[in-house]
Amino acid sequence: MTKAPPTAASLGLFVCHACGLLSRPAHSHEACCPRCGAHLHLRKPDSTSRTWALLITAMILYIPANVLPMMHTSSLFGSQSDTIMSGVVYFWTSGSWYLALIIFFASIMVPMLKMIAIVLLLISVQLRSRWQLDQRARLYRLVEFVGRWSMLDIYVVAVIVSLVQLEGLATIQPGPGAIAFGAVVVLTMFAAQSFDPRLMWDPPENKHG
Ligand SMILES: [Zn+2]
Repeated sequence: MTKAPPTAASLGLFVCHACGLLSRPAHSHEACCPRCGAHLHLRKPDSTSRTWALLITAMILYIPANVLPMMHTSSLFGSQSDTIMSGVVYFWTSGSWYLALIIFFASIMVPMLKMIAIVLLLISVQLRSRWQLDQRARLYRLVEFVGRWSMLDIYVVAVIVSLVQLEGLATIQPGPGAIAFGAVVVLTMFAAQSFDPRLMWDPPENKHG
């Protein structure tokens, strides 16, 4: 194995997060950007603990998001409450299998896979693992990419609401599950953002927290 190339951190070089200026401050503690005055950090401060905190909160809220009703539908024929899964089952049995698949993937699979991916990234960083670095970098990019599309689910709910309301005299109100679900989406987005992917590439002996 060839020796790893020097990193900016090992050369004492800081990149300003605000203006992008590369500088080499005399003191690495409490350094400020010479151009814009922003605080300089070699790595995002407390990246792993912040990411864990956001992720664990998201995981806890994932339970009510799936168990509590996502929406209340009331029509002339009565009212009913649907969770994500009962919605999937409803669309599947009523013949709209494509809608059932979209909801299943966007609401159940994607958030779960995303949380598993971030857990994997965090654990491997904390173990200072060199295992499958290229694959993990790809995984991180995927998680970031998916983050932009996570709100897909909110659109799906909006489409369902308009479809059902077009169909007849039904009114739909979001249930507590929708709030929990929205929180899961936002929290996993923040978790992915607070994770510092540069930690993956740091040589095992360096600790930047
Ligand atoms: Zn700056």
